[in-house]
Amino acid sequence: AKQDGRGVFRFFEPALDAAARRRRQLELDLREALFTGQFRLNYQPIFDLARDRIGCFEALLRWQHPSRGNIPPAEFIPVAEETGLIVAIGEWVMHEACRQAAAWPAHVRVAVNVSPLQFRNSGFSNIIVQALTRGGLSADRLEVEITESVFLDGENGVLQVLHQLRAMGVRIALDDFGTGYSSLSYLRSFPFDKIKIDKSFVDLVAQDPSSAAIVHAIVDLARALKMETTAEGVEDRDQLNELRDQGCSSIQGFWFSRPIEGDAVLAMIAGPMSA
Ligand code: C2E
Ligand code: CA
Ligand code: CA
Ligand code: CA
Repeated sequence: AKQDGRGVFRFFEPALDAAARRRRQLELDLREALFTGQFRLNYQPIFDLARDRIGCFEALLRWQHPSRGNIPPAEFIPVAEETGLIVAIGEWVMHEACRQAAAWPAHVRVAVNVSPLQFRNSGFSNIIVQALTRGGLSADRLEVEITESVFLDGENGVLQVLHQLRAMGVRIALDDFGTGYSSLSYLRSFPFDKIKIDKSFVDLVAQDPSSAAIVHAIVDLARALKMETTAEGVEDRDQLNELRDQGCSSIQGFWFSRPIEGDAVLAMIAGPMSA
C-alpha cells in the first residue's frame, strides 16, 4: 500500500516484467502442487562396485504441472528455495522417501537431497525422526545429501545438526563435490560417509588427463579419510572402467539406469543387473 498526498491508501501491483510474473505464478503453482499432491519421487540406482549390486537409490523430485507438463527440478527448486517453500516440500520428500524405502530389502538405502534452507531450519532433526518413525525405516538406511553451500552462512549450527544425525545412525553424503568453494576445509570439519564426485569431472574422466587426475585425487583423498565415493553422471562404459580402475566405491548415471518410478524399484533390485 502506498499513501498518496491526500492520505488515501492506494493499492497497486508493481509493474512486473514477464520473468518476474512467471516466477510469481510458479510460486503459486508450487504451493498448489504441494497441497493437491502433484509431486512424486523417482529413484535412481547407485551401483556398489565392490559388492556388485545396487546399494542405494537417490530420491529425485518430479513435478507434473497440470498445464505445463513435467517441470524439471532445476527450474522449480531454486524458486522453492527463494520463497522458503522448500522447507515444506522437503518435508514431504523426506516422508515419502522413508515410507517407500521401508518396502525395499534391508541392504538397500535411500538417499535424499536436502537444501541448505531446509537443513538450517530448526525443526530439521525432528522431521527426520518423524519421517523414519512413521515410515518404519531404520536410520542407517537413510542417507542425507547436502552440498557445500550449506556451510556458507557459518559452520556452527550445521555441524551440530550433522552430529545429531550421525548419532541417530543417519548417513551423510557431500553432494556435487568439487563445484563449490574451499571444499577441503569441510572435509576436515566433519567425517562425511560419502563424497559424490560431480558429473562435470566424470564427463571427461576417460578422455581428459586433467579430469582423470582430479577424480583420482578425490578418490585417494576420500579413501584416506575413510569416506566412500560415488561418481555421478556416468554415461558410458569407458567412464565406468576408468572409475572402477581408480577405486571409486559406486557409480550413478544413465549408463546403469535413469531415475525410475517408485513402483519399479523392487523389480530393478530383483533384476539380473543387481544380482
Ligand atoms: P543432483 O542431486 O546432483 O541429482 C543428480 C541429477 O543428475 C538428477 O537430475 C539426475 O537425473 C541427473 N543425472 C543422473 N545421472 C545422469 C547422467 O548420466 N547424465 C545426465 N545428464 N544426468 C544425470 P534431476 O533429477 O533433474 O535433479 C536435478 C537437481 O535438482 C538435483 O541434482 C538436486 O540438486 C535437485 N533435486 C532433485 N530432487 C530434489 C529434492 O527432493 N530436494 C532438493 N532439495 N533438491 C532436489
Ligand atoms: Ca544429489
Ligand atoms: Ca549431485
Ligand atoms: Ca548437481
